[in-house]
Amino acid sequence: MDRIEPVFETLFDVIPFGIYIVDVETYEIVYINRVMQQRVGEPNGSKCWQAIYRQNSPCLHCPIQDILSRESNALNESVVLELFSDVDDCWYQLQEKIISWPDGRKVKYSIAVDISELKGMQNELSEAHAELSLAHRELERTAVTDVLTKIYNRAKLDQVLRDENQRKNRYSTPLSLILLDIDRFKSVNDTHGHMVGDSVLMETADIMRKHIRNTDTLGRWGGEEFLIICPNTDLENAKIVAEKLRSALDDHIFDVVESCTGSFGVALFGAEEDSESVLRRADEALYRAKERGRNRVEVSF
Ligand code: GH3
Ligand code: MG
Ligand code: MG
Repeated sequence: MDRIEPVFETLFDVIPFGIYIVDVETYEIVYINRVMQQRVGEPNGSKCWQAIYRQNSPCLHCPIQDILSRESNALNESVVLELFSDVDDCWYQLQEKIISWPDGRKVKYSIAVDISELKGMQNELSEAHAELSLAHRELERTAVTDVLTKIYNRAKLDQVLRDENQRKNRYSTPLSLILLDIDRFKSVNDTHGHMVGDSVLMETADIMRKHIRNTDTLGRWGGEEFLIICPNTDLENAKIVAEKLRSALDDHIFDVVESCTGSFGVALFGAEEDSESVLRRADEALYRAKERGRNRVEVSF
């Protein structure tokens, strides 16, 4: 190994980074400082890829050939790269540059900074970030989901009602509502218990979900009431959808209670009509369905 000016040697030996200098023609180590010696031992004329990286040929990351091929500013350009060393299981940031050695040879000097701690922190940070965005997404989902039936809750329905009403006003498309109330649900609870009542609500939500269009929004309006918001749907078609839902519910064989029906009220948003008013009309139609014998669809005109 070449000697360098004692003053530089002293300086390089107190620097807490590894420094090594390599002949770019032969890859022989020309100089390494104390930190580097502690890591790899005395180079004794070996090549950098043998002594430092324990490889059988020049390293894949080595920028020597690349820098040399760009003749023009080969001596000016410095390269910074990060790499993981299998030899000591550490991450290094390498800053490398080709310079002229006092004897005229071209050499590459490298400053290797151990950045393992930084990489560890970066990894922890990105893991924490991933967990946080997962938790945030979960929080967003629970904020709009009904705990029991897993369909949208009332808060979400209110928001969709506002949005769809605005869209309907802007594009003059029909917008309809279907309100469903399970028939004689109190007696389900009274006869079979609250748990069976809960499972009827869950099964009802599943049936509704299976029979609406992707563009419709289904949610639990309250206790045993469900609301379906149907954009781009006029009264006639909303009635057809409600009839389909009614008959699906009527045909379904429930666990324990076996049969359970629902009454439906259907209403179309009028021009400039607000959600509250349409909901009131859908509720009146629903009340009529109850009065007229339940398990039926009534429309508000
Ligand atoms: P109608 O045909 O007139 O609608 O009769 P109903 O018995 O369905 O109507 P009512 O409003 O008298 O009863 C609704 C019942 O729904 C009363 C309430 O205890 C029950 N209920 C509301 N929310 C839940 C719930 O989350 N789980 C269960 N199991 N029951 C609920
Ligand atoms: Mg009710
Ligand atoms: Mg009811």
